Amino acid sequence: MGNISKFKKRFLAISVIALVMFGCIGYNVVKGIEEDQRLQRELLELQEMEIDIARLKLLEQAELLFKGYYYDEALALLTENTGLVNETTAELAKRINHEKNNLVLYEDTVQHIFFHSLILYPEYLIPNLNVSGGQFNEGFVFQRELIRILPQLLERGYVLYNVNDVFGKDINGIMRQKEIYLPEGKHPLIISMDDPSYHYGIGLAHRMILDENGKLATEVITPQGEAIVTYDGDVMLVINNFVDEHPDFSFRGHKGIIATTGFFGFLGHKLDTDESKQRATAVAGKLKETGWIFASHSYGHTRVGFWGPGSNAGNITRDTARWQEVIEPITGTTNIFVAPFGYTLSGAAMDVILNNGFNIYCNVVASQRISVNDRYALMGRIEIGGYALEFYKSTLDRLFFDVDSVKDSHRPGLR
Ligand SMILES: [Zn+2]
Repeated sequence: MGNISKFKKRFLAISVIALVMFGCIGYNVVKGIEEDQRLQRELLELQEMEIDIARLKLLEQAELLFKGYYYDEALALLTENTGLVNETTAELAKRINHEKNNLVLYEDTVQHIFFHSLILYPEYLIPNLNVSGGQFNEGFVFQRELIRILPQLLERGYVLYNVNDVFGKDINGIMRQKEIYLPEGKHPLIISMDDPSYHYGIGLAHRMILDENGKLATEVITPQGEAIVTYDGDVMLVINNFVDEHPDFSFRGHKGIIATTGFFGFLGHKLDTDESKQRATAVAGKLKETGWIFASHSYGHTRVGFWGPGSNAGNITRDTARWQEVIEPITGTTNIFVAPFGYTLSGAAMDVILNNGFNIYCNVVASQRISVNDRYALMGRIEIGGYALEFYKSTLDRLFFDVDSVKDSHRPGLR
C-alpha cells in the first residue's frame, strides 16, 4: 500500500509538473504565432505603403513626361513596372494614348521669333524717357517684358519646337519641310536669341557660368558696381525656369537656338586661355543638355563687305573659317546659320555658307516667310524688341501676345 500510494503521489507530482511545463510551452507557442502574424501584417502594410509611394512617384514622372509630349516614354514607364499597375496608372495610360492617337497635322505657318540679351536694368540704360534710348530701346526686350510674354505664348497654344524637326533632308539629300503633329490647338514656335557675347556692359548679363552645383547662372554687375550671381539674367535662363514650371511649353524638352558670334568670345568667356575655353565649353554643354541648340551668327558680325553692301565670297569664307576655328570647338557643329542684320546672301557668297554644312538659313522679316530650296531652307524671323513693340504692334497682337500688357512703361517712344 505504502509503496503504491508513494508511486501515485510521485506520478501525480510528475503529471502536474509536466502539465505546467507543457502548458507554458503551449502558451508560449500560441503567443509566438500571434507575434509572427502581427509582424507579418505590419510588414505587409509597410510593403503596400512602399508600393503606394512608388506608384505615386511613377505617376508623377509619367505625368511630367506626358506634359512634355514624351508619349511613348510615359507609356513605357507605366507599363514596364508591372507591380505598380492599377486603375490609376491605367487611367493615365488611357489619357496618354488618347492624346497620342489624336495629334493633328499642323498646317499653318511655323513662326520664328527672336530676342537679344535681356535688359536687366532699363532705368540705368535708358535714364531719360524723353530720349529714344538708342539700340537698347529698339532691339532689346526687358527681362520683365519677357516674363510677361511667356505665359501669353503658352496661353495661345505655342510650344517650343526644334527647327531641325521643321526642316530636314529627305533620302535623296533634298531639303524638305517636315510634317509636324501636335495636339489640337497647339502651334510650334521657334525661338532664337542673338549675339549673347555679353559685350554690352552694365545693364545686361556680364557672363553665363555654372555655379558651384553645376547649375546655369548669370554673373551680373549691378549699376552700383556689385557683382552678383542670378538665375534669370538672360533669355535662356528665363525660358528654362518657365519650362520647369510649364513643361507643356516645350516639345520634348526643346528650347531654342542660340546664335553665337566670335569677336567677343562666348557668353562672356574671352576664350583667350585653355581654362576660359573649358569653362565656355562646360556652359555650352549644359545649355545643350537643357534643350538649347547653337547656330553660327558669323564670327565678326560685320555689315559692309559681309552681310550687307559689297558682300563677297572671299570675306564670307574667311569669316566662316574663323567661326569654325574659334566657336565650333565650344558649341559643336551646327547646320543652322543666323544671318547678321538678317541679310540674305546670294550667289557665291551663299554657296560658301551652304558648302560649310549649313542648310537652315535664317534672315529677318516683318511677317513670317519660309522657302525651302533643294539645298537649304530659308526661314524668316520676327524680332521682338522695342521697335517691333511699337511698329509691328498689330502683328504681335494678332500672332503672339497683347503688346499693351507686355510693353514696359519705361520705354521712350520711337516715333
Ligand atoms: Zn546679330
